[in-house]
Amino acid sequence: MSKPGESFESQIALMLHSADFVIKEQPHRIMHKGRQIGDLDVLAQDPSSGEVIGVSCKDWHGQTPGSEQFSHLIEMLEFENLKYGIFASSGSIAHTLPLRAEYVRNAKGINIILLGYDEIKKLKNLAYSKQTTDIEDYFRTRLGLSASKRKTVADEIRAQKSVILSRTIECERLLPVNFWNESPRYIMNNQDLLPADSTLRLEPYLVIDYRLHIQARHLGTGKLLESNGGGTVIVDASQGTVLSENDPVFKHLTKYYTNAETHMSVQEKGFTIKKTESFVNQREIVRTIREQIAIQNEIRTHYTTAKNEQRQKIVRPRVDDVHIIGPYLIHVPIWDVTFNLGDKTYRRVYFGYDDNDVIIDEMSKCQIKPCEHDTDSICIRCYSTTCDNHNRPCLMCSKILCEPCAHACIDCRKNFCDEHKPPTVCGTCRSILCQNCSSVLCMECKTVVCSNHREKCIQCDGYVCSSHIISKKYALVTKNFCSQLCFNGFGETYRSSGMFGKFKKIIKK
Ligand SMILES: [Zn+2]
Ligand SMILES: [Zn+2]
Ligand SMILES: [Zn+2]
Ligand SMILES: [Zn+2]
Ligand SMILES: [Zn+2]
Ligand SMILES: [Zn+2]
Ligand SMILES: [Zn+2]
Repeated sequence: MSKPGESFESQIALMLHSADFVIKEQPHRIMHKGRQIGDLDVLAQDPSSGEVIGVSCKDWHGQTPGSEQFSHLIEMLEFENLKYGIFASSGSIAHTLPLRAEYVRNAKGINIILLGYDEIKKLKNLAYSKQTTDIEDYFRTRLGLSASKRKTVADEIRAQKSVILSRTIECERLLPVNFWNESPRYIMNNQDLLPADSTLRLEPYLVIDYRLHIQARHLGTGKLLESNGGGTVIVDASQGTVLSENDPVFKHLTKYYTNAETHMSVQEKGFTIKKTESFVNQREIVRTIREQIAIQNEIRTHYTTAKNEQRQKIVRPRVDDVHIIGPYLIHVPIWDVTFNLGDKTYRRVYFGYDDNDVIIDEMSKCQIKPCEHDTDSICIRCYSTTCDNHNRPCLMCSKILCEPCAHACIDCRKNFCDEHKPPTVCGTCRSILCQNCSSVLCMECKTVVCSNHREKCIQCDGYVCSSHIISKKYALVTKNFCSQLCFNGFGETYRSSGMFGKFKKIIKK
């Protein structure tokens, strides 16, 4: 299967492709905050389970890849939250690796296949003889991927194992996690909403508190100018950049950083933890920040010289006058949670310490366009988030729907869910009529009619639908009748009445 000059990575990719895996990327670059921190030579996907496999290929001609390269692969898989990997070498593989692979499988739930020269030769022979299902079986069994979409007992055991073997991540200083990957508290009917995907990011920030005192004497008046300053600077400790005061993390951390706890650990429970380590030079950052604070806090005084010239004197605090408290490297827990509800997808990014502090919240506003009010419930049918004005609880079961999904009685405007939708409709407009509002029948055709499509008969006080109505003008006033009988009856008495009697008939409603 390998043509001369074809790379080792391509050989492995081709092998996976022949076994019906989808080659997603070759290579796959692993990025973090705009920087490449590593790569996987091939990224393949199992089309039936959707599981993604990260592949590392070493074509080292005589040298044996070992522990270090294996660790790097595990690190990259963990970073990308992948549970399946292939470590392939065109030559041999260090004899320590099978044990390590076993350890990684038990401790981290990551399944790794080690492919050395002999194994690859075996697979190549299968490929030459077109035994592609055997190649597929080879990868599936060793990775622990089931052959079909149907769940097997083994899948269940694996799923349970992965819960038991969930990782625990430790942080030197961490804002405690008080809120979890749940549906937002402001949604009243939030019981059944489970996120499809949730990651708890632990992101490092450097909190630098400073105090500053400077004095300068005004050269003209001799008055002493004083400035007492202080504040907090927060630095993104993975990037080394200073946060702006509008940054949600800045607002959150200045409020809460004193509550950070030391030696904290968080355990993965049905969610993924991604901890970002800080590699910035703290001393260097503190030095730069002190210089900047000194520059930003200079005092300017103006005075006039003996030659009557306007001059300016700048008093800049010395770097030593900027007293630093800290810095504290604190990991901030940030949830990144996605809800897939019906055909709707909502993403929420919020702080684990206080979920009132929000970075992204696609659920917070009413989805009934063009309404922009705050959400207080969610439609259980279409999963639109709705405000107080656009939610429609069912009269019978109280389940909440949005305005478009609810079935409303055309007359009393009471709402019903699909299950409790009243069976009766207006015979004319087909609008729904609830039990209370469906008691009026046309005298003539005995059809239920809504209040918009019926008139009262002046003669018998019964109702008549739009198609059977008989209207007649008496001295410019229209009178409605349910039937020829009522019309005739009214006409007879009208004609035989005197002037005053006729008038009474006309004004009668
Ligand atoms: Zn709806
Ligand atoms: Zn609304
Ligand atoms: Zn209902
Ligand atoms: Zn009604
Ligand atoms: Zn109607
Ligand atoms: Zn009728
Ligand atoms: Zn009538």
